Amino acid sequence: MITTVLPTYARANLTFTKGEGTWLVEASGTRYLDLGAGIAVNALGHAHPELVQVLTQQASQLWHISNLYNIPQQQALADALVAATFADTAFFTNSGTEACELAVKMARKYWFEKGAPNRTDIIAYEGAFHGRSAAGIAAAGTEKMTKGFAPLLPGFAQLPFGDIDATRAAIDENTAAIIIEPVQGEGGIRPLPDADLQALRALCDETGTLLIMDEVQCGVGRTGRLFAHEWAGVTPDIMMVAKGIGGGFPLGAVLATENAASGMVAGTHGSTYGGNPLACAVGNKVMEIISNPDFLAEVNRKSGLLRQKLEGLIASHPDIFTGVRGTGLMLGLMCKAPNMDVVNAGYAQHILTVPAADNVVRLLPPLNITDDEISEAVARLDAAATALEG
Ligand SMILES: *Cc1c(COP(=O)(O)O)cnc(C)c1O
Repeated sequence: MITTVLPTYARANLTFTKGEGTWLVEASGTRYLDLGAGIAVNALGHAHPELVQVLTQQASQLWHISNLYNIPQQQALADALVAATFADTAFFTNSGTEACELAVKMARKYWFEKGAPNRTDIIAYEGAFHGRSAAGIAAAGTEKMTKGFAPLLPGFAQLPFGDIDATRAAIDENTAAIIIEPVQGEGGIRPLPDADLQALRALCDETGTLLIMDEVQCGVGRTGRLFAHEWAGVTPDIMMVAKGIGGGFPLGAVLATENAASGMVAGTHGSTYGGNPLACAVGNKVMEIISNPDFLAEVNRKSGLLRQKLEGLIASHPDIFTGVRGTGLMLGLMCKAPNMDVVNAGYAQHILTVPAADNVVRLLPPLNITDDEISEAVARLDAAATALEG
């Protein structure tokens, strides 16, 4: 008999009733160290006092109105994002998937309005994840996501991740845009080398192709810069944001340059809930905290500390781990043992991690994890690895 919740998730049998910072607590009182952070969502940990304050304050005033009216919290968040990034304009969604939908629509509309309605093709990359909508699965193109869901949205092709020569060869008179994660998340914490992102930017400039960056997982301070592409010193034309921006409240955004967004006039896109006062009240506080250079400097310092300890862990368990990759607090432990065994052994030590493709275990802690919690996390991973060897 089918479960009353549609059985699309392979869940661990864990039930948490409370969260405090980097910790999740079961009803029994057992505490787990959370290095998954709801898959890079709880960027400031659980129940952050300032986020609770702005959320409850807004909840007592106004939850939802429609985008038929002004929403000052939304305006403030757009202003903050535009001031802090390459972008001239922002549209708010409730999720990363919806951001993907708009990014694709925006790119196609751009060319339509420029008098090149043939330019509809989007180049994506193997190992990508852009969400589970029709556009999202067509962009990622993996059989795991697309099988049984044909006909797929046409106009997407996948190339080897960041392959510049293949991209140059693939761009033709029908290409609208490239979509890429500067650091692949679900694909196994695979950072694109800075030089490759720069080369993609140059290719796009040469051919007019729009560069869409999916920073849903790697954005909002995760890599130690506000957005991951800043490391390479190049900017996208369109960027998808979600996950961390809401600190755990559903919120996403598409940021774009004035040029890339030029086709999106009144009536071309919309959302019932996107940019609602509750989500934007939280998003403003998240941005205020995370965009502070001192906060980002701490993310980088903690990344160094965690990496250094992980190198020791890997050296002590060569049969379990082979290395670590990633940037900031978006790290992937490359495993020799099956990654799910490592994740499960972690549960037994009361630490939460997240599996990814390419046999990787993701470490995506709250960005405000403490030094003591970093030490404790690595001690628990060490115990988990020891138990696996036994
Ligand atoms: C999670 C994720 C998405 C989809 O976001 P949802 O909020 O789950 O719709 C898209 N792109 C990337 C890179 C992601 O990590």
